[in-house]
Amino acid sequence: MFAEVIVDIAASEVDKIFDYDCGNFEIVRGVRVTVPFGRTTVEGFVIGIKDSSEVPADKIKSIIEMLDKTPIITDEMFELLDYMTAKMHLIKVDVLRLFIPAAMRGGRVRELTRQVAVLSEEYRDRDPNEFIKRTSLAQHEVFEYLLTEKPEGELVSELTKILSASALKNLATRGIVRIYNAPQMRLPYSDIKPVADKDVILTDEQKSAVEKICSSVGKIFLLHGVTGSGKTEVYMRCIRNALDRGQTAIMLVPEISLTPQVLRNFRARFGDNVAILHSALGQGEKFDEWRKCLSGEAKVVLGARSAVFAPMKNVGVIVIDEEHDSSFISERTPRYSTEQVAEWRAKFNGANLILGSATPSIETYYAAKTGKFELLELTGRVNKRPLPEMEIVNMCREVALGNHTIFSALLMNELDKCIKGGNQAMLFLNRRGYASFVMCRACGYVAKCERCDVSLVYHREENRLKCHYCGNMYSALDLCPQCGSPFMKEGYIGTEKVVSQLKALYPNVGILRMDNDSTRTKGAHAQILGDFGEKKAQILVGTQMIAKGHDFPDVTLVGILDADMSLHMADYRSVERTFQLTTQVAGRAGRADRNGKVILQTFAPNHYVYNFVRNGDYKGFYEKEINLREVTKYPPFSTIVRVLVCGTDEAKAAAVLKNTYEKISAIKDKYPNNFIYLAYMRAPLRKIMDEFRMQILIRLTSDSDAIVNKIFDAVDECGVPKVTSYAEINPIKLS
Ligand code: ADP
Ligand code: ZN
Ligand code: ZN
Repeated sequence: MFAEVIVDIAASEVDKIFDYDCGNFEIVRGVRVTVPFGRTTVEGFVIGIKDSSEVPADKIKSIIEMLDKTPIITDEMFELLDYMTAKMHLIKVDVLRLFIPAAMRGGRVRELTRQVAVLSEEYRDRDPNEFIKRTSLAQHEVFEYLLTEKPEGELVSELTKILSASALKNLATRGIVRIYNAPQMRLPYSDIKPVADKDVILTDEQKSAVEKICSSVGKIFLLHGVTGSGKTEVYMRCIRNALDRGQTAIMLVPEISLTPQVLRNFRARFGDNVAILHSALGQGEKFDEWRKCLSGEAKVVLGARSAVFAPMKNVGVIVIDEEHDSSFISERTPRYSTEQVAEWRAKFNGANLILGSATPSIETYYAAKTGKFELLELTGRVNKRPLPEMEIVNMCREVALGNHTIFSALLMNELDKCIKGGNQAMLFLNRRGYASFVMCRACGYVAKCERCDVSLVYHREENRLKCHYCGNMYSALDLCPQCGSPFMKEGYIGTEKVVSQLKALYPNVGILRMDNDSTRTKGAHAQILGDFGEKKAQILVGTQMIAKGHDFPDVTLVGILDADMSLHMADYRSVERTFQLTTQVAGRAGRADRNGKVILQTFAPNHYVYNFVRNGDYKGFYEKEINLREVTKYPPFSTIVRVLVCGTDEAKAAAVLKNTYEKISAIKDKYPNNFIYLAYMRAPLRKIMDEFRMQILIRLTSDSDAIVNKIFDAVDECGVPKVTSYAEINPIKLS
């Protein structure tokens, strides 16, 4: 027998399938093996078995070792592999790597085992005085303990905490006690306190949504529910229903909202049936959680994006919460859309797919409106609380009145009331650091990164200038390096400066900050949210990290300090993103028994988006936006393809760009009706990490799948070493 093997080598840019002789191993498809490869041995995936091989008998090598006893890649995943390589233009080995935890590759983690001590059978019913000296009190204690307290055995590590280790050892060498290795599963977050499950009575809207979903098979639903409408409860009921039918469930949430709070709720409802896949887990923990999915021990997996590949069998329901969230799109190789994979798996399993959001992406809502998905709505909050009242503050007027701070008079007033009333406030600013840039007032010099075409951000805690793209640090500037002037102006204020200004205003109030800088260490994220939840602080300042899914009952005030940040990006989604972000943040206020208030500060108070945000009018916003997209021919009425070319050698990259552009122009000449737009240019960020960046922008009519494939091929054909080039479909960022 021969095995078709894809070798797992780091730098492989192409898929090669090699034949190996199975020898005496009983190899099946889906196991990993080690094989000789050149002069070394490497790991590989067996993707097929066959009776004969084209490779001549004297050339073919044999498998060295079989790494798995049973397949770790299921039949379903093999079909998904075919789909993803064909549809997403990926190479097999990259897809296979998505299917298993990183730690399994290269034998980096093993099963964890622990030593267990147990009394040997033949000594149990005997009088210990026959074989333990009367004076060996410690040995008698161990014997007695194992006989009466732990007849099933006890972990050696636990037993030796209370009893003599040398006595145990002595008994073990004489065969009276048996010590063996038992597999031990790591349980992530085992320290989080269990909570009692809430036994809630569903609202009419929740009930109707649950009934519709549970009585369907293989359908896609969009659950559109305002913030606080109890979407999670709907998901959990549908998952329970799938489990009751003997099926499994996959629940996906954005990385950032996979908090201990969510976890606790799921454990409370589904017990140890829940596996968790999350980037903050240790390698070993991830490995164990993944194995629980494969073995069927876990019936529910809760995780971020990559959990869409969890090896569950017989899936009954897949949920993507906050479906509009950009973290569901993988922007790095291998590029894939979680929703597309989930749709495929749902179809394969005959499972229902639930996409949930308070602010669905325009494309998803359009799919629901046009009948591709079924629309379910939760229009009210569960506790009948109105959505928080929102006031829009014109920051131009503040400036005209002489207020140059980032806090409007109204916000300061409300914050004061909130603090004095013993409530909590969340202040949102999507800019971390202290000051967004540093500029010389005398000559206009702006500090820039040497490796990237971006200005540096000042971080006061470290007293350094940081590049947010490559992470490079530079020393802070007291004098302008260009003209020597001491008058340096600081640019837009970031979260760090907001906190320091608030501390000056409220020296006795607890203030927390949550952004990429303050959550770098493992567990910091949960710690900050935990502290805020326990009211150790009254104000939480943060970037978009604080926007998602958190449920703090005492938050009565939300301040959006600079709502326009996402509005002015040159990108067809910028208005949509502003709507989503501001609505999500606003939704953090007034979730329990007190009314909430939201202050939104903007320099463009008359922009239509804020009116829809204030009225919580998603549908109105959607109608306006979909009309615009139709008129201007943007997705979902077209497909955008961007070919990005990067390289440290600018001329080389430009040559690749030119060749690729010419190939695509030739496609356009052949199929002119499919092209709405085609042009090449420098990317908005011209240089990142010493790489020059340029792009080809293409807009195609929406029926252009065949053209997209031709573009992928053109990009491949024009590739040269040391220049990276790839095509992205409807990219979320065009920077
Ligand atoms: P969403 O995800 O739609 O923003 P959540 O699912 O977080 O809302 O629900 C908000 C709160 O309401 C949660 O604390 C949840 O336990 C609670 N809840 C959900 N459904 C009900 C219900 N039918 N009755 C009472 N409380 C509910
Ligand atoms: Zn200067
Ligand atoms: Zn940089």
